[in-house]
Amino acid sequence: MSDAKTLLDLSAVDLLLMRIKKQLEDLPQRAQLLALRTKRAEIDAKAQQVEQMRKECEQTIAKLQDEETMLKAKNAEVQNQVDSTNNYKEVAALTKEIEGFAKRLEKIEFETLKLLERTDKIAAVEQQVATAQARLSKQDTDLHESFQLQAGTLKKEELKAVQAREQFLADLPNDLAARYEKAREAKGGFGAAHVEGSHCSGCRVAFTEGQIAKFREIQEAGDKVSECPYCHRLLVVEL
Ligand SMILES: [Zn+2]
Repeated sequence: MSDAKTLLDLSAVDLLLMRIKKQLEDLPQRAQLLALRTKRAEIDAKAQQVEQMRKECEQTIAKLQDEETMLKAKNAEVQNQVDSTNNYKEVAALTKEIEGFAKRLEKIEFETLKLLERTDKIAAVEQQVATAQARLSKQDTDLHESFQLQAGTLKKEELKAVQAREQFLADLPNDLAARYEKAREAKGGFGAAHVEGSHCSGCRVAFTEGQIAKFREIQEAGDKVSECPYCHRLLVVEL
């Protein structure tokens, strides 16, 4: 009976579909892309942090420069006052003030230098971070491409298998096709098995000689197909 062969072909295609589905789920690029995204998020956070540090440095430098400009202007003003007075006490007070400006200006210069050095170091780190970001982007693109390629191949195989199973189902009498689908849905995966040695190829449970003889009898009687009493898949004895 050719329905028996069709049932086993259909079952084989469904087994293949399960394998393809599993292969699609297990493509290593999925986990790799996920790991890459985590790394990428870490690097992006680092980039933001470093940028923030640089901005703070730049703002502090700008503030110091403003203060320097202001102090120099004041200094010039006080210098003018010194030039325009002969009052000893007044000159002494103004000179003290000028000394104060000089001290503060010196401190500003020192702090600015330190901040500039720090900005240089931050810029170096920013460069490293940017390089790492570019490298991760490239890896992401490459992984995506290889994923698309492998998944595409598997999808094509899947489509072929789906078309084949539709044809096999169409080749079967309606009631048998319905029984097969019911068994497949109940088991998840494939709905027909055969007697392999003395076992069911689907669930591996052993049959007695008597059971096998009975299955054979039913099958040889014509349009009937037995089912495994254990896994309830349609059971083909021999082709
Ligand atoms: Zn079975």
